[in-house]
Amino acid sequence: MESWNIPQAVSLREVGPRDGLQAEPTVIDTADKIALVNRLSAAGLPRIEVTSFVSPQWLPQMADAEQVMAGIARRPGTRYSVLVPNLVGAERALVTRPDEMTLFVSASETHNQKNVHRTIRESLEGFHQIIEKVGTQVSISAVIVTAFGCPYEGVVTPAQVIALMDRLEALGIQEITLGDTVGVANPRQVFAIVQQVSHQRPAIQLGLHFHDNRGTALANLVAALQAGATRFETALGGLGGSPFSPGAGGNLATDDAVYLLQEMGVDTGVDLPALLETTQFLVEKLGHAVPSRVFASGGRMVPQGGDPHGH
Ligand code: ZN
Repeated sequence: MESWNIPQAVSLREVGPRDGLQAEPTVIDTADKIALVNRLSAAGLPRIEVTSFVSPQWLPQMADAEQVMAGIARRPGTRYSVLVPNLVGAERALVTRPDEMTLFVSASETHNQKNVHRTIRESLEGFHQIIEKVGTQVSISAVIVTAFGCPYEGVVTPAQVIALMDRLEALGIQEITLGDTVGVANPRQVFAIVQQVSHQRPAIQLGLHFHDNRGTALANLVAALQAGATRFETALGGLGGSPFSPGAGGNLATDDAVYLLQEMGVDTGVDLPALLETTQFLVEKLGHAVPSRVFASGGRMVPQGGDPHGH
């Protein structure tokens, strides 16, 4: 009897157009960003984080947020989200009619100060203003960044994370993603927190967002699955890393996550060959390689009658 027990399907949110591209030093053409989002929706990604309404002075790569949102072809069934750092960003975003807005706060006080120059309390007050402004027009989710470890404070405990979740839930936010911003989470830690949240805070719709700085992201994905997680954020090709987080590395590659999930019989709704063609498109536009191993391997193995090198 198989005791392996994981969900039959998971929901991926593609964050490459935002989390991936924001780390790129060369500004990508708006038309290419639009084409990228359209290719991702055509490949079957159910949710796509399209852009960020951060100040263009801070992040010139995202200065065309309005144009990208206006230019994409909205595929029925795909949910398009945007990252919103503050009330000004939310007001800009609202005009572009996203399906979802993502807010972010750090699990550790020092990281929040360095990242957004606010205390956690001030960030949460900002969320309250945004929620009042947005009302029920757009669904709102939150990402807790540095949820598994902080580059300034080191250890972040599950109790710290759950306490912050409670403050978000008190604001009416029930969809919460835990971000391993600097890639320090390990599978045991991931399993424990997913299990703890699902037992202690069953109303929370938990998501996980892994970075692969130390090669642990796929292992963390499997551990989260084993603990029952069904929602993940990944970036095409494994791009990314925050320009404001020292030591931040690439996101878990969507290519690698989709491949692994499909091989394990977990449905993602994503067409892997179409996804890999999108990664090829991305690589051409970026002009450099991307970390995804599945992309480098060309996707699924196609048996060709023996390996001539005998490996
Ligand atoms: Zn990320």
